[in-house]
Amino acid sequence: MTNTQNPIPLSRLSVGPKSKVLVVGLGTSGLWTARWLAGQGADVMVTERKKESELDPDILRELLELGATIELGGHKKKTFLNADTIILSPGVPHDMALIKSASEKEIPVVGELELASRFIDTPIIAVTGTNGKSTVTTFLGRMLENAGFNVFVGGNIGTPLIAYAAGEQKADYLVLEVSSFQLDTIHTFSPYISIILNISPDHLDRYPDYEAYIQSKLRLYKNQSDGQYLILNHDDQRLSSVRPSSGVSLLFYGSKKMEGLHAFLEGGRISAGLNASTRQGFSLDAFALPGSHNQENLLGAVLAGMALGIDAAMIQKTINQFKGLPHRIEYVGEVKSVVFYNDSKATNVDAAVRAVTSFDRPLILIAGGRHKGADYAPLVTAGRGRVKGAVFLGEAKGLLAESFRDEIPFALAENMEGAVLKAFSMAREGDAVLLAPACSSFDMFSDYPHRGRVFREAVEGLIHG
Ligand code: ADP
Repeated sequence: MTNTQNPIPLSRLSVGPKSKVLVVGLGTSGLWTARWLAGQGADVMVTERKKESELDPDILRELLELGATIELGGHKKKTFLNADTIILSPGVPHDMALIKSASEKEIPVVGELELASRFIDTPIIAVTGTNGKSTVTTFLGRMLENAGFNVFVGGNIGTPLIAYAAGEQKADYLVLEVSSFQLDTIHTFSPYISIILNISPDHLDRYPDYEAYIQSKLRLYKNQSDGQYLILNHDDQRLSSVRPSSGVSLLFYGSKKMEGLHAFLEGGRISAGLNASTRQGFSLDAFALPGSHNQENLLGAVLAGMALGIDAAMIQKTINQFKGLPHRIEYVGEVKSVVFYNDSKATNVDAAVRAVTSFDRPLILIAGGRHKGADYAPLVTAGRGRVKGAVFLGEAKGLLAESFRDEIPFALAENMEGAVLKAFSMAREGDAVLLAPACSSFDMFSDYPHRGRVFREAVEGLIHG
């Protein structure tokens, strides 16, 4: 939904006492939106595709106590057309027919992020990109805390922004992970610092084409203006040609030293500065995260720290302390000199490519899950000389098998336990077994942490069995 498709003036966004506000989608974001709206005195209606039996009864009870009306098991057109304002949860496709009908009737439709940001004036640092958002968002939160600030970390990770609006916390900064789906429903959202880490094919099952997904990511900086910062990865071809409006400070980072880069890697260290006179070096000796992608992400995070005026010693301290997040190339254990790594969060091809290229020992790859429309050829290419065998599972196993045919020996598995056993039987001493699915988890698991836990349990079964 671009501004031109929905030219309704946001002054018409009616969310105060007695206004009829429809919240579409009852996940964490929908629940917090309903709580906040009830606090504003609005007449809240929640509509959700899932049936009552699929939802948490405590949440439904809370909504009823808040005085909300609840529509479950599908959405009625009348519900949409009767609303004064419609708030979308990020999981809801913004181009669904009912939303189009409401827009045609000039009913304002915005996402939760847009709604929340209109009621908050704390400076926002927003991180988007296909991969690395959660890691960088968490890192930035830790860095600001180390520097003595009160920080809210949330958005697409953990707690939605509207929860901050609804709560008591008075933060100095808000660090937000922002997804493309959230960006689809913004109109005025304008972070003090925007960071776009990378763009690679993902979510092609939800966008008409790759270009539409790229444009969605690029919406992050489009409302930025004087005095704000935009931090971009110059190694990413699409991002390297981005130019924000004139008053926005554009900071580029890239893995190799190059004219015009504000941050780069040199001799195993980070060199970063907002300008030549503020250039500083940062050591990576104690940086615990594997792979060149994590060093690249760090370049963007360090620039954000410098833009915020954080002391170099505090930036370095955060680099040294940060241990990363679970399910991202996470060490699980070792059996007979075969090590096991869990990268369940590698839910797209590029993340899996970066995982595979992070190792310098032979790999047995476990991949597969729900196919999201991207081509697996880059994973095949990245695997040459590195991946010596593979096990595929889930809905995408046939497509993966097709892509890797004639490349390496592979097996198909029915479940994660079977995949781990087969991978172990293919491995030799000194090899690593890497779960990097390149697919989403929803065909077999409730989410990627669930998939990662089942992998861990299977590995622990091997260790103790
Ligand atoms: P997001 O929140 O964007 O999904 P995460 O930090 O959770 O990002 O990481 C998701 C996956 O992407 C993990 O498998 C991680 O190893 C991988 N990853 C992290 N940074 C990058 C990057 N710059 N390029 C490619 N993959 C990355």
